[in-house]
Amino acid sequence: MAQTPRFVPDLSAEDLARTQLNGLKWTVAHAFAGSPFYRERLNDEGLEPGDIKGLDDLGRLPFTSANDLKEGYPLPLLSVPQQDVVRIHASSGTTGKRKVLSYTQKDIEVWKDMFARCYELAGLTVLDRVQICVGYGLWTAGSGFQLGCERFGAMAVPVGPGLLDIQLQLLTDLATTCLCSTASMALLLGEEVERQGLRDKLALKKCIFGSEAHTPKMRRRFEQALGLDESFDIAGMTELYGPGTGIECQAHEGIHYWADLYILEILDPATMAPVAPGEVGEMVVTTLCKEASPLIRYRTRDLSRLLPSSCACGCSLPRHDKILGRSDDMIIFRGVNIYPGQIAAVFEKFPAVSSEYQIQLTREQGLDHMLIQVERRPGDTAGQDPATAKAMEAEISKQILVRTEVRILDPGELPRTFSKTRRVLDERDKDG
Ligand code: ZN
Repeated sequence: MAQTPRFVPDLSAEDLARTQLNGLKWTVAHAFAGSPFYRERLNDEGLEPGDIKGLDDLGRLPFTSANDLKEGYPLPLLSVPQQDVVRIHASSGTTGKRKVLSYTQKDIEVWKDMFARCYELAGLTVLDRVQICVGYGLWTAGSGFQLGCERFGAMAVPVGPGLLDIQLQLLTDLATTCLCSTASMALLLGEEVERQGLRDKLALKKCIFGSEAHTPKMRRRFEQALGLDESFDIAGMTELYGPGTGIECQAHEGIHYWADLYILEILDPATMAPVAPGEVGEMVVTTLCKEASPLIRYRTRDLSRLLPSSCACGCSLPRHDKILGRSDDMIIFRGVNIYPGQIAAVFEKFPAVSSEYQIQLTREQGLDHMLIQVERRPGDTAGQDPATAKAMEAEISKQILVRTEVRILDPGELPRTFSKTRRVLDERDKDG
C-alpha cells in the first residue's frame, strides 16, 4: 500500500520558541549583511544584529511595506548575490509597478514543503489526483500548488484557470479527487456541472480554494454543486513565498499557519501596538529562513485574528482566522475600531438580505452616524423591510457594540463597479 509521507511538524511550545528565536536572529543578521536596504533601515533605528537577544526584541525592529517593494523594483529586498537567485515571481500592483520577489533554490524547497503540509492537513494521500485551476507563469499560485503536490506525492493535473470544457473533461476522464481553484472558479465549475448533469460522473471529494474573499453561503453552494465532502481555505501571498503559508484542517475552525517558518504578529493598524489575543488586527509577518527576499515585520494590510485555543485536530501549530478584510478599510467609529467584514458577518444571519451593502459615515451635530444600506434578496417583497432592518440594528449593536441605522434597498439599487467595490463612504470630514 502506498505510504503517504508526513510534512507537518509536531513542536512543543518551547521548541517552537527556540526555532523562532534562532530564525529571527539569522534573518536580521542575513538581511543586515546582504541587503543595503535593510542595513540602512536598521541603522536608522540604531539597531545591529547583535541587539536581537529574545523574541521580545521583534517589537524593536522597523516595519516594511508594499511601498518598499515598489521602491526597490525590480529586485526589492534582495539579500543574496544575484547568482544565487533561481527564480522570480510577481503579483500585480494595484497601482503602478508589480511586486517582484526573488527565490533561491532553498526558498523553493521550503515553499514545496510548506505546500506539502497543506495537502497533508487537508487529508489527501499519494493516491489523490489534484486538478490545479489557478494561474501559472509570473503568478505564484500555479507553480506553488504543483510543486507542493509533487513533493507530497499526489498526482498533479496542471490545467490553469478558465478552460471550462477542458476542466470538465479532465475532471471526469481522470477521476480527479481534489480541485484547487479560487472560490469563484469552484462556483462557476459547480454551476456548469449542474447544468450539464455531470455530478454522478465526478470523483471529486475536496476543494482547496483561496486568494479571494468568499462567504459561507458561496462555499456551501459550490460544495453542494460539486458533490464535495469538504473544502479547505488556503492562505498565502506572493511576498511570503506564495500560497501555502497555512490552511484549514479537517476541523474547519481556522487556518493553521507555519509558525516555525514565519512569525505572525496581529497589530492594531492605527497604533501598530499588539492587540489582545483573539482581537482583530493587521497581519504583520517576519520570515525565519527566507534567503533571497526576507521579510522583516512586513505589513500585509490583511486583517485577521489569532485563535488562541488548541485545535480539535491535534495539530500543534497555531491558527489564525480567515482573512476578514483590509486594514485600509478600518473605520474608527465613536472610538471603536470596526472592520466592514464584521458587519458583513452579521448579514449572514439574515436570509432576507443579499451580500451587497454599503456603509456611509457622516457627522451630525458633532456626533458620528453610521448608515448601512443593504439590498433585499431578489424575489422578496418590501413588506418585511422595517422589521428586518430593526432586527439587524439590534444584532449589530449586540455583536459590535455600536448603534447604527440599517436601510434596506431594492435588489440592484447599490452601484456596481468592475473594480473592487467601495464598501465604505466616509463623509465625516465634509460635515466639518
Ligand atoms: Zn486543526
